[in-house]
Parts: sequence; structure tokens; C-alpha cells
Amino acid sequence: ATLPRLAGRSIDGAPIEWPHYPRRFDRRICHLGIGRFHRAHQARVLHTLLQQGDAEGWGLCAIGLRGQDRPTLDALRAQDGLYSLTETDGASRRIRVIGSIMQCIDASSDASEAIATIADATTRIVSLTITEAGYCLDANGRLDLRHADIAHDLADAASPRSAPGLLVRALELRRRIGGHGLTLMSCDNLIDNGKRLRTALVDLARARDPALAQWIDAHCRFPCSMVDRITPGADPERERALCEELGVHDAAPVLCENWLQWVVEDDFADGRPAFERAGVVLCDDVPAHERLKVGLLNGGHSAIAHIGLLRGHRGVHEAMADPLIAGWLATYLHCVAETLDAPPGIDVDDYCASLTRRFGNAALDDTLLRLAEDSSAKFRQTLLPPLRQRIARGMSVDVLARAVALWLHYLARLPADGGDYRDVAAAALVPLARAAEGSSESWAFVRTALALTEHEAAVVCAAVDGHLHVLTQSGVAALATP
Ligand code: NAD
Repeated sequence: ATLPRLAGRSIDGAPIEWPHYPRRFDRRICHLGIGRFHRAHQARVLHTLLQQGDAEGWGLCAIGLRGQDRPTLDALRAQDGLYSLTETDGASRRIRVIGSIMQCIDASSDASEAIATIADATTRIVSLTITEAGYCLDANGRLDLRHADIAHDLADAASPRSAPGLLVRALELRRRIGGHGLTLMSCDNLIDNGKRLRTALVDLARARDPALAQWIDAHCRFPCSMVDRITPGADPERERALCEELGVHDAAPVLCENWLQWVVEDDFADGRPAFERAGVVLCDDVPAHERLKVGLLNGGHSAIAHIGLLRGHRGVHEAMADPLIAGWLATYLHCVAETLDAPPGIDVDDYCASLTRRFGNAALDDTLLRLAEDSSAKFRQTLLPPLRQRIARGMSVDVLARAVALWLHYLARLPADGGDYRDVAAAALVPLARAAEGSSESWAFVRTALALTEHEAAVVCAAVDGHLHVLTQSGVAALATP
């Protein structure tokens, strides 16, 4: 009833697009983690396919596992799953009403409906964007059986709290009713994300029922994927202004950049939409794309987050306008790039140049605090692989150790409760960071924060200790200088 009010409306010269397809499905993709990125990325891709007539019968079921998802799910339900997606290159905007989310389930307090839906034969794919921490993996990439949510799910499998717990329970039911295997597709920023998801589920299943673990391993598929589209957090003021411009109230709008990349391994258990018709790359060489993107884009984000906040900036584009930080980013990217083999057809220098442009997109108003969140999990994905490579090849770790020292320096300045900074490891790391800074000895911090061998930690700490000394003597700028 509301959509026709958008007829004839345009924003920045482009008409507003809305769904022209039937919003019914008989082949379901359940998506865990109904955050903003999913709505800017996978839901947009499926919308494009449906709009083109290339994915008839496919639809998304959005499942929230956390209380934080409830407002989004309520807003989406009240709007029949519809929401506006604004894509911007900084100069102009393009707005679409996305219609690919056709069902919403709140699993935060009762997971039974989500479990039954995933077990149902109409569900062909389960995808996830639950953040790096949502996989409950330990520093060695195995399921952390001591994680509070996993311990809970082992004791009470019928009411799971974790994503692995919910999925294993749903697969158990699917197997019991004689269902097909499923495709479980991680879209989180984890290197080898499909393999990690497989490990999380198989480890949990094995701890409960080895036969179930075997069935999952044999019948389910876990394609790896590389996903890329910068999608900042909510901004109520910006969203209010958008609704005024649209002339329609939207309680779940999403803003993102106009860049979209998705590379997926073509390994699906029970069919998939023709993703390639919306520009998705299906190939066997996903890890090379992941390493490039996670190392440079996500690594670059983490590298500028702490120094940007330490220098008093709030927005990513503001930090990028600070020549010291732009220079530091270039130094960091160069150091990581030296450890990467570019996937065919990709020029790493061009890729780095595109990142500098994308990070400078002022219209996104992305925040440094969002980039800094969960740094303990992010650094293990972004900084650890190049760090290990450099140590193994006998190359200098100076620049990467500077990034660690800047993070430590940032943590040491936080209030005891972490303030606005969100990171599951903050309570453990903030006291260690303070102690390290007081003594210029980073050993305990580095061993806890990064899963390094003793030899690797010794190499890294020698460099970090020197940088801590420089930081306390001369300040942040001294470390960022090439
Ligand atoms: P968001 O804060 O909007 O949403 C996070 C989602 O993850 C929510 O649905 C939340 O409930 C869920 N979640 C958080 N912790 C969880 C846990 N322990 N178990 C289960 N669910 C949990 O964030 P977003 O922008 O949607 O990003 C989510 C993830 O998507 C990122 O962590 C990253 O891996 C990936 N990603 C994001 C971007 C981006 O630019 N935002 C780009 C590429 C990839």
C-alpha cells in the first residue's frame, strides 16, 4: 500500500526502484544475523535476481539470534520485510526498496521456530553474518568448548544460544526426518570462512553425537566466500532526513557504498540461485580473494581505527583527511601487500588505491569506533596471517608491530569498563595493555591477544616494546611516520 507513494519520485536524479516480483517462495535461504551488512549485500543481490526474473521462487528468511536484532525484525515485519537501501559513491545516491526478505524469525529467546524452519525441506541454504566472534572459535580455529554459550548448548541442546548450537540442532532434526544435506555459507570476514564454519559445526556435533558429525561432514556443503561492501552503522538523524526526502516512513533503512563484490566457491548441496547473473563470481580460488580483501581492506580498517581515535577523529573519512593517517595507511597496506599473491586479474596497487578512495567516502559517515570494535577477533584474521608470513620469510615485522602497539596504546587509555569500545576480550586485554605500557613490556599482552608461538611472540614483542617506548616518549605521530 505504501509503495505506490514512491511512484515518480527520484533522488539525486535517479528514480526509486521497488520490487516488481511476486514475494512468495518455495526455496528458502535462511540467514542468521540480520545486521546491516546482510541487507546491503546478499539481500540486495537476491533482489536484483528476482527483479530480473532470474531467481523465481527463492526468498530469504531473516533469523535474529540476539536481542539486539529484535528492533530490526519488528521493523521489518511491520513493513512486510521491505526496507530502503541507499547506495552512494559520495557524489550521488541510488535508492531501492528491497523485497527479497520474505520471512522474519526472532530466535533470541526461543529458537524452536528457527530450528524447525532450517530443518524444513524448503530450506536449501543457510547463510551467516554473525560477526567473527559468533563462530565461538578458539585461537587455533577449533570450536571453543569452554565458551559460555557452547558449554550451555552442550548441556541443553534444545534451547541453543550460539549460532553453531542452533545449526547443529537444526541439522540433527533435518537428518532425523530424512532431509537432504544443506549448504551453510558464511559471509563473515574470516579467512577460509566456510572451513571455519564447518569446523565449528562438526566439532560441536562430535562432542554430542559422532554419527551426526559424520552426517554433517558427508552431506552438507560449506562454500568459502569473500564479501565486500562497506556498510556503516545506524545514524538516526540521517535516517530521519531520508524518510522526509522519501515521503515514506522506513524504520529499517540501510546505507552503503556503491561498491559490491562477492566471490563464492561453487559448492552447494541442494541448488542455488543463479548468483552469477547479478555479478557474483563463482570460482575455486576464493582464498586468494579473501586474503587480499581481509588483509588489505579489513586490515587497513583496523590499522587506522586506533590511531584515528587516538588522534581525536570520529569518522573514517575525517581520519583519511589527516595526512598522517593517510600516510600510515599507505605504509600498512604496502607491508601487507608484500605477503600476498594477487588473484588473477587483480592489480594490488590499483586495489590499494581504490581502498583509499572508498575509505574517504564522506557520505557514508562510517565511524572509527565501528572499525575498532572486536579488534581482538579482527586482528587474528587481518594482521596475524601477514605477520606469520613475514616472520617465516625472515622479513621485518616493524610496521605490523606498530599496528599492535597503537592498539595496545588505545586500549591502555580506555576506562576500566572499556567505555564505548565493544570487544569480548576487552576485560582481559585492557589491564594487560595498561601493564605493558607502564613497563614497555608487551609479552603478556601479545601472548593473550594474538595466538603466536613462543618464537613468533619473541620476534613481535621485541618490536612492540621498542614502539611502546617511542609512543610514551614522543606520541602517536612518531609511530605513524613512514
Ligand atoms: P551489525 O552490527 O549490523 O550486525 C551484526 C549481526 O551479527 C547482528 O544480527 C547480531 O545479532 C549478530 N551477532 C553479533 N554477535 C553474534 C553472536 N555472537 N552470535 C550470533 N549472532 C551475532 O553488523 P554488520 O554490519 O551486519 O556486520 C556483520 C558482519 O558482516 C561483520 O562482522 C563482518 O563479518 C561481515 N561484514 C560486514 C561488512 C560491513 O561493512 N558492515 C562488510 C563485509 C562483511
